[in-house]
Amino acid sequence: MSLHEKEKIMDEITDDIYASNDVSQRLPKYRIPDSEHEARNIYQIISDELMLDGNAKQNLATFCQTWADEEIHKLMDQCLDKNMIDKDEYPQTAEIEERCVHIIADLWNSPEAENTIGCSTTGSSEAAMLGGLAMKFRWREKIGEGWEKRKPNIVTGPVQICWHKFARYFDVEIREIPMEKGRLIMSPDEVLKRCDENTIGVVVTLGVTFTCQYEPVEAVCVALDQLKKDTGLDIPVHVDAASGGFVAPFMDPDLKWDFRLPRVKSINASGHKYGLSPLGVGWAIWRDKDELPEDLIFNVNYLGGKMPTFALNFSRPGGQIIAQYYNLLRLGREGYERIHEACYKSAKYICKELKKLDLFDILYNGERSEGLPAVCWTIKEGVDPGFSLFDLSDKIRSRGWQIAAYSLPDDMTDTVVMRILVRHGFSMDMAELLVEDIKRCIKHFKKHPVSVSLDEEEGGGYSHS
Ligand SMILES: *Cc1c(COP(=O)(O)O)cnc(C)c1O
Repeated sequence: MSLHEKEKIMDEITDDIYASNDVSQRLPKYRIPDSEHEARNIYQIISDELMLDGNAKQNLATFCQTWADEEIHKLMDQCLDKNMIDKDEYPQTAEIEERCVHIIADLWNSPEAENTIGCSTTGSSEAAMLGGLAMKFRWREKIGEGWEKRKPNIVTGPVQICWHKFARYFDVEIREIPMEKGRLIMSPDEVLKRCDENTIGVVVTLGVTFTCQYEPVEAVCVALDQLKKDTGLDIPVHVDAASGGFVAPFMDPDLKWDFRLPRVKSINASGHKYGLSPLGVGWAIWRDKDELPEDLIFNVNYLGGKMPTFALNFSRPGGQIIAQYYNLLRLGREGYERIHEACYKSAKYICKELKKLDLFDILYNGERSEGLPAVCWTIKEGVDPGFSLFDLSDKIRSRGWQIAAYSLPDDMTDTVVMRILVRHGFSMDMAELLVEDIKRCIKHFKKHPVSVSLDEEEGGGYSHS
């Protein structure tokens, strides 16, 4: 290397990042650049862009985990190169997944005599597809010849979008029970009205997306038991416990919503919600392997060994599953209980402070026997506070808080609500700051009212994750 070239390299080494050629000029955004760039420069550019995202911890609209301890970060890094599907190559990761399935099945009171089986997924959506498919295949077996001429259906309360997807993608009619004033979740009577011989299953949600309430799993099962006695129709129940599956076992162990009810044939939950694991893991568990038709299982031999798989994905990361195992071991029942307890306490506090303002009707107050650590409210009927909840959602964002405001589904689309999810990592101190900021916003609207009629409003841009 000639001397002057050495100097050029020195220049690059001592370059200030923001004065460097890479960073001080515009890089293409929608086509691949022709040349290579310095790693630390590109890292800085991307890292700076990410600042424009909302601050995840202040995102009170999501059910998903936004905080993980240092050990989880380390384990995730250690697993970066492991593919969950390669069970022959990464047998210990496969073993740990299997342990998680057993631990979670046990947490959901799987009866010892049954051959409970299950698997990890990328989240509750994939788990719901698998649960739904198993019900559809079981129904086909039950009907036997001529099933093609019928149209299968599922009966649900107000469900998360994944069940609408399942219905559309897999050609099943969805009979979603509409909300009514004073009843924002399913009731056994409403379920029975919609069941017939083509009902592949009833989906009951433990932690409804819109209000965070638990639907009455046991009462629905009792009603379906009676239906069987009266008519012979034997309709299975799948519980969408995306959030509640990792809350109820710790906070309300006497609540019967799981495999203690013989009619509950399968359950899904998101490890990345109240399972406290990083994004990208869900669980699907069947009470007995007979509930999972053989036709759905593929045996793959090209990874070495003969591996049964039931999943929509092929390759997928393994770190989240390892992190789930870490959480289960690290926290135990006691740890989960203490973490969730703290969340309920903050939710209760927020609820109490909101009530004092005398502007809101609380639709769900974060009662641990009734639902998740969350609060859901609407503007009091007949009260015009000078702002809508969409305005409040918008205004509070100026302090970084992201709080969902949205209209309820059928038949309550005129009702706009706001909802806060309290999660691991949201301290009482933050709850106090949030309440102060809400009060500040309301004071602002008092001085500068925004007059709106409902028709002019538009939905906020939140997804129900
Ligand atoms: C979040 C959620 C889902 C979807 O779960 P993902 O893990 O985000 O795929 C399904 N059902 C309910 C009730 C949920 O809360």
